[in-house]
Amino acid sequence: MTIQACRNTEDNSRIRLVIHGGAGAVKPGKQRHEREQAYMEALAQSLIAGHAVLAAGGSSIDAVIAAIAVMEDCPLFNAGKGSVFTHDGRNELEASIMEGSTRAAGAIAGVTTIRNPIRAAHAVMTKSPHVMLIGQGAEIFAAKQGLEIVDPSYFYTQYRWNQLQKAIAKDDILRDHDAGLDTLPGEDEKRGTVGAVALDCHGNLAAGTSTGGLTNKHSGRVGDSSIIGAGTYADNRSAAVSTTGTGEMFIRTAAAFNTAAQVRFLHTPLTEAADNTLAEIAAMGGDGGLIVLDAEGNYTMRFNTGAMFRGTIGEDGLARTGIFFGPETPVMSS
Ligand code: ASP
Repeated sequence: MTIQACRNTEDNSRIRLVIHGGAGAVKPGKQRHEREQAYMEALAQSLIAGHAVLAAGGSSIDAVIAAIAVMEDCPLFNAGKGSVFTHDGRNELEASIMEGSTRAAGAIAGVTTIRNPIRAAHAVMTKSPHVMLIGQGAEIFAAKQGLEIVDPSYFYTQYRWNQLQKAIAKDDILRDHDAGLDTLPGEDEKRGTVGAVALDCHGNLAAGTSTGGLTNKHSGRVGDSSIIGAGTYADNRSAAVSTTGTGEMFIRTAAAFNTAAQVRFLHTPLTEAADNTLAEIAAMGGDGGLIVLDAEGNYTMRFNTGAMFRGTIGEDGLARTGIFFGPETPVMSS
């Protein structure tokens, strides 16, 4: 990580990190409070990790990686450790990352042994002439870059396995977060992709997204999360965007680029741009959410599902998180 001190203290006033942990039709359940607290705490840990980078003068790219890696290591989210299973019982992960100052980007898909896919996406961006690597080639590349390689069994969790069995029984392809908060993590849930957008004290934006995809997906299926322009986009001239939802529709609408393009070319306010994109997706029968941040530090977190796990942190270092509709509330992380 390269840390370059900010020119003056004023620069730090604009640092901002916004994250999501997936969107879905989550309904409050019996043990809502306990489950909510677990998610709020995990989101806060992610925000604090990213904020530490930004507050020290680090780059928005490094903040995005730090925030996403925390969620990839947390089994509550459908990314990294908590990834869902394909129809044939594998965990196939994908991630992407983009830098707003240069529009450099990196992505990986269909990987089964890389502990932190977001770090591999970053390595593709910085250490290869390519934007996207998939499957075994991506894994060989990640190993050569010294990234942590794990046995595929690292990604096995019982509740995700149970979730696959249910999906197979119902002949359904599931996303995370579509059940009550009184279920076990991931059980019966449908969405849980993670993402982050950040603005550093140098005025640069970055965005990243990471996921295990859909429960019971076809082996080899690639979603929006690893597609630059669909799941992730960053351009200092417009905005940084990370999405979550029905991946196929987010690809068909080029959701992340679509949102940034409205900001750049039509000067559409962020919230309106996000809602326009979601409306287009809804018209195709899809749903989900997205986080958007511009180089002035304006941001929005929009979703057309019952809930989106989300949070933000700025200069004051106070993590604010939310799940359902309503303002994000401060979380004092232990
Ligand atoms: N967009 C992800 C995918 O289609 C799923 C999600 O965001 O929950 O793979």
